[in-house]
Amino acid sequence: MSAPLLRLTPQRRAVLDVVAEAQDHPTARQVLDRVRERVHGVGAATVYRTLALLVASGQVAELRVGQGQALRYDQNVHSHAHLVCTACGQVQDTHVQLDAGDLAELTDKTSFILAGYDVRLHGRCAQCVAQDKAKEKTP
Ligand SMILES: [Zn+2]
Ligand SMILES: [Zn+2]
Repeated sequence: MSAPLLRLTPQRRAVLDVVAEAQDHPTARQVLDRVRERVHGVGAATVYRTLALLVASGQVAELRVGQGQALRYDQNVHSHAHLVCTACGQVQDTHVQLDAGDLAELTDKTSFILAGYDVRLHGRCAQCVAQDKAKEKTP
């Protein structure tokens, strides 16, 4: 990580804390709502600017979950794959990783220097599957 860590004012601290505690990869709007529960009267522009600064300084990761979808924010800045529910939009971390040997081979073959990866696995989450099943049962 080459970028210097961002100097944290209390408002920025609150934004970082909210993202760090979130397990659900919140949108900027959700981060704003949660920060407002802690810091009274904080402006939307301040929160959105802080999110951009935290992303730029490498303390928070920005996550694209699909075209036309709001960006999500992730406290885990290391390469990891996500499960994205196409029905409700829920985003979960998954331990599934790209094979390190495959990645090394890719670099050997193509001379491409890999800096990281962003893998999204699409499908339906457990809750949505359960809801589908419940609907099927009702006549
Ligand atoms: Zn779902
Ligand atoms: Zn994640």
